[in-house]
Amino acid sequence: MKKLMVGNWKMNKNGKEAQQFTEEFNSKFTDKRDAWIASQALFVKLIINSGIKAGIQNCSEHVNGAYTGEVSPRSFKEMGGHFVILGHSERRQYFGETSKGLNAKIRTALAEGLEVIYCVGETLAEREAGQTLSLIEDQLHQGLNDQSLANATNLIVAYEPVWAIGTGKTASPAQAQEVHAHIRNVLKAKFPAFGDKTRILYGGSVNPANVEELLAQKDIDGGLVGGASLKPADFLALCGDR
Ligand code: 13P
Repeated sequence: MKKLMVGNWKMNKNGKEAQQFTEEFNSKFTDKRDAWIASQALFVKLIINSGIKAGIQNCSEHVNGAYTGEVSPRSFKEMGGHFVILGHSERRQYFGETSKGLNAKIRTALAEGLEVIYCVGETLAEREAGQTLSLIEDQLHQGLNDQSLANATNLIVAYEPVWAIGTGKTASPAQAQEVHAHIRNVLKAKFPAFGDKTRILYGGSVNPANVEELLAQKDIDGGLVGGASLKPADFLALCGDR
């Protein structure tokens, strides 16, 4: 399967910058790797119209109704949206999201036909306490706890160590591979029908200088990228178009 590079723009860029990005990116992109972008929800139409697969960075667990301020996964799919990132550590840290609570969002988004990138990862204190693998296993079991996920071929898991996000400190390829192999084993045991084919992305200070050795690891199927997805030249390099 092709490697998948996902740009998570977080709350960066205005509409004009987003437009310029898509034009420059599309003029040089050669499709060696899959490339998706999660922008602010305000700009998704612009990304969709550019032909790049578009995502949002959160969505409601409901499809419609009296939920002021929420974004409906059904409406997003109807307008041509492709995927949603759920459980990013910034959402867990600043907006109180929990793996258990995320389960409902994941189920709804998958049922609406979106691809779901479910993020897991440990803090530095948890890593130093030797809790990384057990914590990630708990995040997987709680977030993905439902038989209705048993055919979730649209599921993608992203391993994002919190200590590596926006810090310039990347997990070494060996550190990342150790966790990815563990995630693979948990997914295989949990979802025998497809767990060995679920894409597992690495995120945390991925950049053009370190991407190739990360992608060379057996269980790393792509990257979820913040800072280095903001400039077309960097994101093109991550997509194999240098
Ligand atoms: P950075 O690539 O900026 O470290 O961000 C990673 C991330 O949070 C992607 O979701």
